[in-house]
Amino acid sequence: MKFIQGHSPRSALRFVAAGCAVFWLCAIVPASPALARDAAGSAPVTALSWLAQGSGSVPAGSTGSGEPRGAGGAPENAAANGPQTQAYSLPPERAAQAIAYARARHQLYFLDLAYSVLVLLMLLRWRVAPAFRDWAERALRSRLGQAAIFAPALLLTLGVLGLPGDVASQWLARRFAQSIQGWGSWFWDWSKGELAGAFFGALLVWLFYAVVRRSPRGWWFYAWLGAVPIIVLVVFVSPLVIEPMFFRFRPLAESDPELAAQLERVVARAGQNIPENRMFEMNASTKLNELNAYVTGLGASRRVVVWDTTIARMTTPEILFVFGHEMGHYVLGHIRDGIIFAAAMLLAALFAGQRALRWTLGRYGEGWGVRGAGDWASLPVLLLLFLLFSFVFTPFDNAYSRHLEHEADQYGLEVVHGIIPDTPAVAAQSFQILGEVDLEEPAPSWAVKIWFYTHPSINDRIIFARTYDPWSGGKSPRFVK
Ligand SMILES: [Zn+2]
Repeated sequence: MKFIQGHSPRSALRFVAAGCAVFWLCAIVPASPALARDAAGSAPVTALSWLAQGSGSVPAGSTGSGEPRGAGGAPENAAANGPQTQAYSLPPERAAQAIAYARARHQLYFLDLAYSVLVLLMLLRWRVAPAFRDWAERALRSRLGQAAIFAPALLLTLGVLGLPGDVASQWLARRFAQSIQGWGSWFWDWSKGELAGAFFGALLVWLFYAVVRRSPRGWWFYAWLGAVPIIVLVVFVSPLVIEPMFFRFRPLAESDPELAAQLERVVARAGQNIPENRMFEMNASTKLNELNAYVTGLGASRRVVVWDTTIARMTTPEILFVFGHEMGHYVLGHIRDGIIFAAAMLLAALFAGQRALRWTLGRYGEGWGVRGAGDWASLPVLLLLFLLFSFVFTPFDNAYSRHLEHEADQYGLEVVHGIIPDTPAVAAQSFQILGEVDLEEPAPSWAVKIWFYTHPSINDRIIFARTYDPWSGGKSPRFVK
């Protein structure tokens, strides 16, 4: 639910390791170190990922309708393009960089995926999980105690083995000036993510195996039943517990009362109610150059977050449009829809997973030292299966995400219409700026869009912003009447 997609692919293994023990933890993963990243991994993961996530992009051009609010420099091209932005375009040098960055990320994604599969296969072959299991079973009798030994041991092992992919991704982000986070700070964030993953992972693994042992045939359904409230809970606590582990949040009314008042005008225009205490500023600038905004939480924790980088470098009308997009997610209940979508995919994955696990263990279980589905040591097999499923789901997950993002764009255009002058130009310019700062490649291929695009391409978004005009034809706008 971010305004624009982030880049750095997350290590696929990391999804697995940090939380996708049974997908349950997925919402945690995206919230970990870089909120700015897009979950490039599995579908259910991604479905949840953007629930917890927001990342955006950048700087400020002068649109003629206001000066950038802060010190950020306008990218040359954005400034040159100015209010005339008709299509997404980058100066040749910047375009070359954007293409190089995109290629490198996409290669890393597939490399990391292959590497993750290999790591899991090696762990199985060398019977690492059975060794951890034996250790846990010798040490303690209680199942909870065993989970508290087994799960962190396995998840942290996977985490450490997945470190090269994470490091490569951060290295790229620094090399292309998307991240300014130092390695010490980055590693500390990584460690926090791993530790949180190990802690919650132990709880989930304990619960999951209790279900599997109780119901050897029907566990896929009961695990799903149990997973749904857990997903809801994780989404609910994410802005309260997880996100503050990595960034600081201040009420916008405190940090920028003038902007908060402007945003309230937009809210009032739509006849909605988003109180000021649900608008926050995030100190992204300590770690990132990117600009963004996002919606997070559920029910009482639901809120809109604007990155300080966005506030510093965009003009007020541009920020209002970005906020309008986020407000679309908020008002249209996209987080709720995302949870429903993720839950549906999880059900399919668990159903298929139960069968695939039985088949795999029947064939290879003995050689891998795994006694059966209810054995702690079956966890790497499950993780491997879910990694493959989520890979297959990715295009569907991305397509659904693009659909929601398009709706949010439409809502954003409608809600600021009449509040800011020349909405199409302002919106197009904000996309141009974001794309330029975030190094969005100018013309992604259809294959790249299918695999990697959680948002419509910048060019598609600019064209839509430029051409969407129900008002002049006397038609009624779809969302904001
Ligand atoms: Zn969005």
